[in-house]
This record gives sequence, structure tokens and C-alpha cells, in this order.
Amino acid sequence: MSPSRLSRLGAKADELAKLSMDKQLRLAVTGLSGAGKTAFITSLVNQLLLGAENHQLPLWTLARKQGFLGAKRVPQPHLHLASFDYLGGMQALQSQPPRWPSPTDGVSELRLKLRYSPQSLIWRKLSHTATLNLDIVDYPGEWLLDLPLLNMTYQQWCEHIANNLQPARKAELAKNWQDLLLNIDIHSPADENTLADIAKAYTEYLHRCKDELGLHHIQPGRFVLPGELAGAPILAFFPLPPALLSEPSGSRKAQKSSYLGLLEQRFEYYKEHVVKQFYRQHFVKFDRQIVLVDCLSPLNSGHQSFCDMQLAINQILHSFNYGQTSLLRRLFAPKIDKLVFAASKADHVTPEQHDKLVQLLSQLIAEGKRHVKFEGISTQTMALASIKATQSGKVQINSQSFSALKGILQSDADSQKVTTVFPGEVPASLPKPEFWQQQGFEFSPFQAPQANSFEALPHIRIDQAIEFLLGDKFK
Ligand code: GDP
Repeated sequence: MSPSRLSRLGAKADELAKLSMDKQLRLAVTGLSGAGKTAFITSLVNQLLLGAENHQLPLWTLARKQGFLGAKRVPQPHLHLASFDYLGGMQALQSQPPRWPSPTDGVSELRLKLRYSPQSLIWRKLSHTATLNLDIVDYPGEWLLDLPLLNMTYQQWCEHIANNLQPARKAELAKNWQDLLLNIDIHSPADENTLADIAKAYTEYLHRCKDELGLHHIQPGRFVLPGELAGAPILAFFPLPPALLSEPSGSRKAQKSSYLGLLEQRFEYYKEHVVKQFYRQHFVKFDRQIVLVDCLSPLNSGHQSFCDMQLAINQILHSFNYGQTSLLRRLFAPKIDKLVFAASKADHVTPEQHDKLVQLLSQLIAEGKRHVKFEGISTQTMALASIKATQSGKVQINSQSFSALKGILQSDADSQKVTTVFPGEVPASLPKPEFWQQQGFEFSPFQAPQANSFEALPHIRIDQAIEFLLGDKFK
């Protein structure tokens, strides 16, 4: 063989080796609204673009060993999906005074090309550099609360909602839409405008549960976070009181065009075209997942809000139930193999309390874990702050030393006054009744730190999340 043909073959082999080393990974980020998804993705992207250079990622082995060569943003693979607005988020953080990035309310994605030196000798012999195409996908955790609907008929769903109308304050908020139900005969031909009005009243009720009572366990999830479905007729349905359904006339088979008939059809349509569609179109493609949980806000908001968040998080766990008999496994073929539960906003408590925060989160999800089989999924529980807005230190009071935090409270954004706060003790286990009587915890939102375009954002343990979620991909 001629030398030139040999060298052409050599170049081809190199190219092939590079191609086989180029990898792809879809990392999904979720959590209930306000959990910190937008801040997390903004910071993750920022760390990958700048953090290694800034030596900010010591817990990520590849960066520590200087095997990470850099990242750049490239066009996202799915042109029909919204783009995650990284630049908008950075602009907000760089403005004066800095603002937190605006949250998204649907699915959005962003692609980074990560270049690295392969860590295993075999791959390194083939090529000095390799690429990982990392797709980061953001979606609302509320959408995962809809999974159990797939196992319910419309009648069962109505009963489920009625059984969950406690406590009294919730029932009070529900009165408005329930009063509207008194004016309809569920077997008479449905009027579209009436349906739309009652659905609107039901949606308002759900929003008030969320905003006024701090509740998260809200069904159907798309009613409060509709994404691209805002205003679509598919969202014009609502539950009926079971008493109406169990009346002798209520058990008659519903005429297709009656109120009951239409409500049943829309419920089934929602299950098929919204709930299943999300799992089919997005969820089954995720390789890795991080679920962010804000344990601190519900500690502030009170017992009911805390229990409701616990219920919602445990419901979310069912979307990772890969046991042979699980509904999810029977309907879809999900492939997530690594899952992180992260207590977010850890900069709201002093560093020696981070372990307690992790223990609290572990207890929060313990109940759900008893019913869920994470077959083939490795999980990790941790505490992190995507964007650290406080400084921790010691304060002397009467010659005693106390741990404290310093930062600018959101409410002092105008004066830019730096405040020292003692946020209180995070309970290391699910709070006992005395905790709620004493209201032993108080935390107020902090202003975001001032960012610039050449330094990576300050964070706590984002590198630990990178190590667990991506670390094995750089072999
Ligand atoms: P999303 O609805 O899940 O996307 O939540 P966001 O990312 O928009 O976060 C909601 C709010 O939580 C932000 O506006 C911040 O006030 C706060 N937040 C999020 N992450 C952090 C963090 O790492 N540290 C602090 N101090 N606050 C955070």
C-alpha cells in the first residue's frame, strides 16, 4: 500500500474513532415552581462555560484533573421547542441592581458542546480530545403530578378531588366554582361558554390554592402551568361533585353532547394528548434527571404548605418508578439511569446546617421511596445553591460566637443595605407539632449577587451535581 493511501486510511480511522467517542446526553431539570430550576440551569451553563477556568469546580474530577477543555453553546436539536434563555438570565444577573432570572413555565432546552481529554487510556490512545453534546431540558415538576390521572376514570378523578378538599380554607376557596355547578344539569346539552366559564373558575381556584395557601399538589398540572396550551379548549374541563354523579340520573350513560359527556371526553383527551404525550415526547428521551426541592419556603409558610409539598414530591417520585409492574414502565420505556434530589437555595442557611437540610430532604422523600422501585437508577441526595447570594461567617454577641449569614435582602434592593441574619435551625427530620407552634424558622429572599461576564457565578456544590450526573461520561 502506498504511503499516501496509508496516511489517508490513518486519517479516516482517526475520524471514525472521534465519531464513536462523540457522545450525547439529555439532562432534565425539574422541580415545583419556585424550586430554582431557572437559577440552576443558568448557573450550570455558566459554570460549564467559565467555572473550570475560574477553578470553581473542585468536586468535579475531570475539571480538577484539568481534563475539561471547554464548552460552547451550539444550536439546540429540537427547533420546535422553546430555547432556554441563558443570555436573558445572565443579563438580569448583570444588571444594577442584579435581578434573578425570570422563570419559564414550559419545556425549554439548550445544547452545549463539551470538549475534554478522555480519561481512560484506551480512548486517549485513539484521540486526545472528545466531545459530549449535552442537552439541558427544563420542565415544570407540576406536570409530573398528572401521572396518576392515567390510572383514573373521570368519575374516580372527581372523587379524588372531592376527598382532597380539606382543610376548610381550601373548601372556602373552592366555593366559587362549586356554586357555578349548581346552575347546570349535567345531562342537558352542554353550552361551550358555560363550560369555559366554570373551567376558568376552577383554574382560578387552583391558582389561589398555590398563591394564597402555598400549595403545590395541584391537578391537572397544566391548568396552572399551561405552557403552549394556554387558552386551548383541552383545558376547559373540571371535576364534578361525586354527589351529582351518584344521583340515579347521574349514573345514566352520558350523552356525548351533554355536560357530563363532554367533561368525560375532555378528561380522556387530556390524559391521552397532554399527559401521555409529555411522557412519550420528552420524558422517555431523558438520560439523567435532577429534581430540585425548595424545603425552606414551606418551612416558612407553615404546616399545611409543608405537608402539601411532601405529598407533591412523593407524587413526583412515581415518575421514576421503574419497577417491572409500574404504570410508567408498562406505558413507556423511560431510560433515566441517574437521579439527583437536591435541596436548593442552601445559601439561605449556614454551612453547618447543610447536612440537616440533606437529612430533611431524605426524610421528605422516604415515604415515596418505600413505594417506588428505582430499578436500574442510581440516586443521590444533596444540598446546593445554584447562585450563592450570601456570605457565611461568625458573629460575636456578648462574647458568644454565632453562625450568621450576610446578604442584601430582596426587600432592601433600593437601599442596597447589607443585613446579617440568623436564619434559625433547619429541622433534621420532619418537623414535629412544636416546630410549627414556635415557627422556629424564618428566611427571606435575598437579592441575587452582582454578576459580570468574565467570572463564574458563585455557587455551593453545583460541581458535586456535575460529578454525579455527568462524571462517568468523560471516560
Ligand atoms: P423555578 O420556578 O423553579 O424556575 O425557580 P427560579 O429559578 O426562578 O427560582 C425562584 C426564586 O428562588 C428566585 O427568583 C430566587 O429568589 C430564589 N433562588 C433560586 N435559586 C437560588 C439560590 O441558589 N440561592 C438563593 N439565595 N435564592 C435562589
